[in-house]
Amino acid sequence: MRDEPAERALDPREALRSVFGFGSFRPGQEEIVETVLRGEDTLAIMPTGGGKSLCYQLPAICREGVTLVVSPLIALMRDQVRALREAGVAAGALTSGNTEDETDAVWRDLDAGRLKLLYLAPERLATGAMDRVLARAGVRLIAVDEAHCVSQWGHDFRPDYLRIGTLRQALGVPLAAFTATADAETRDEIVARLFAGRAPRIFLRGFDRPNIHLAFQPKDSPRAQILRFADARKGRSGIVYCGTRARTEALAQGLREAGHAALSYHGGMEADARRNVEAAFQREDGLIVVATVAFGMGVDKPDIRWVAHADLPKSIEAYYQEIGRGGRDGAPAETLTLYGPEDIRLRRAQIDEGLAPSERKAADHGRLNALLGLAEAMGCRRRQLLAYFGEAMAEPCGNCDLCDRPPDTFDGTTPVRMALSAALRTGESFGVGHLIDILTGSLTDKVRQRGHDGLPTFGVGREWDKRQWQAIFRQMMGHDLVRPDPERHGALRMTEAARPILRGEQAITLRRDALARERARPQPKALVSDEDAPLLSALKAKRRALAEAQGVPPYVVFNDRTLIEMAERRPASLDAMAGISGVGATKLERYGAAFLAVIAGAPPPEVHPSRRRLAGSDAGPLFDRLHAIQLRLARGEDGTGKHLSCTHSTLRQIAERRPSTEADLARIPGMGEMKVERFGAAFLAAIAEAED
Ligand code: ADP
Ligand code: MG
Repeated sequence: MRDEPAERALDPREALRSVFGFGSFRPGQEEIVETVLRGEDTLAIMPTGGGKSLCYQLPAICREGVTLVVSPLIALMRDQVRALREAGVAAGALTSGNTEDETDAVWRDLDAGRLKLLYLAPERLATGAMDRVLARAGVRLIAVDEAHCVSQWGHDFRPDYLRIGTLRQALGVPLAAFTATADAETRDEIVARLFAGRAPRIFLRGFDRPNIHLAFQPKDSPRAQILRFADARKGRSGIVYCGTRARTEALAQGLREAGHAALSYHGGMEADARRNVEAAFQREDGLIVVATVAFGMGVDKPDIRWVAHADLPKSIEAYYQEIGRGGRDGAPAETLTLYGPEDIRLRRAQIDEGLAPSERKAADHGRLNALLGLAEAMGCRRRQLLAYFGEAMAEPCGNCDLCDRPPDTFDGTTPVRMALSAALRTGESFGVGHLIDILTGSLTDKVRQRGHDGLPTFGVGREWDKRQWQAIFRQMMGHDLVRPDPERHGALRMTEAARPILRGEQAITLRRDALARERARPQPKALVSDEDAPLLSALKAKRRALAEAQGVPPYVVFNDRTLIEMAERRPASLDAMAGISGVGATKLERYGAAFLAVIAGAPPPEVHPSRRRLAGSDAGPLFDRLHAIQLRLARGEDGTGKHLSCTHSTLRQIAERRPSTEADLARIPGMGEMKVERFGAAFLAAIAEAED
């Protein structure tokens, strides 16, 4: 085997452009690609949807020789190989799902030195002969996807992954490992088992997924809440996560009755039935899967537009991984997580009843607290979420429910002290229902029998009704001031954290909106403006036809994000088409003309009344300039930001009033702080230009 450092056949930026059609790297990608290209051992931890595949595909394309990719799921490997081939990259897979012809073709390509990426199912490594074969085939780099599968900590352990470390040593080539699982135990195990303990370069960053809208809601009538959320997003692919198997089936049924295409999925189903659901989800547009967390790694679909949790997830890590499955293509995705006292009780009980040692249990309670803190957050949720992963955010995100509508808060110290005192005076032996009866002065049989109507706290909380008290207790549980007693079903015990509040040394702020019956639901985010919606539908129809003809999932042709950009920018030539993100050279050749024809055939967007009013005036051309600028910057300079746009009427007023400073610009109706920051400099430059 030759041993000199691999030469670079191609520049990675150039390949990013020409092969994948992407204009820029996502945060973190470039450094990882450079490090892998240099042949250094690498471990990259990036969130789900962060763009890990590209971090090994690009070096594989740019390096000499073959890159071996080990990945745990056959269906996903096959989809990746298809997608790479669509982009004109020589890739093949050796899995048990291959036909004999496919396998022969892979070997022929390998022998001829034509292959750049070889995907291998881990069980293939179990045969010792594979090492020699791979060495002969010229494998120069090993990439391990879902590297946490080598760890026994998590629930995805694959014994065959243990062979990878030996293979690396036998081949003497660098290894690049990728995972979304960040905890320290898993990381240590990956380093020990894949890199024989010799620390690789570790990348742990870029946890933000700005296109995912975050929202939590107290659980009220979960079935109705989920149905409403899904109804408002009809025809868009989504996942609903549920805590139990029975619930997945009931909810899927409910969604079907409401006219949605919905399937259920859980670990108790036969392997074949599960594979069918995975395949259908991957291939069909607009399907909803109602699942337990067993629906996980096998979900690699980039155009999932929403993820809802009907029950509270286990931890922030689990939450982020699950919602992270939405919007991998970078186009907007929405989430909703429901939570209530039952969820908190259940999660606490799971921890208490587990067999883990007590320090571990305490840590797990702490992790649950972090998630509950996120659920009961008072300010920008994303900021709190990223802080948990050690990333600071200077500004509120503008893309979560609390940024959309800041919560109304109040000083909850008095009712919380009343509630704590009611619990203490009754020996910490009662649950929420009875405590609320005492606080609101309800003379129930139980209250009378126990003589609780004689307590000083009896009836002191009449100012709040039962429903409001429930919200107060839920928030108290969320702040970990009271915990269900594992020994006595339903009884609430005060925690240490509550003492300073009870003693009057510390105040507590609660959210009033969480007391309200149901918050008005913001409308689902539209993917494009009304004017562009018909064209987007036509582009999707063309995509579906092309995908069906080849038996591939629609996103393999182009993903949603690419179609959205086509609908907005309406390229009129192949050159202009090449400038759309996601259109690489091969796809341009293969599909460019077909999509250009759809765009050419679409009726031109109607001239907006705002623009019509400016016809013939100086403001007209300026309006058009501003409009073009806001399209170009809709997702920021690097194309990864939150989608922002100004209405036609805002643009008209800017064109007419010609503000000359950012402060003046900020006074135009519709220009918020974030929009000034995004568009301000470019708008002012365009205005200044129009002045000369
Ligand atoms: P992960 O494995 O980290 O969950 P993927 O590798 O599946 O994420 O990437 C998610 C999506 O992001 C894919 O559809 C991919 O095409 C897209 N993507 C990756 N990098 C970029 C980039 N630099 N610009 C635009 N899209 C990208
Ligand atoms: Mg991946």
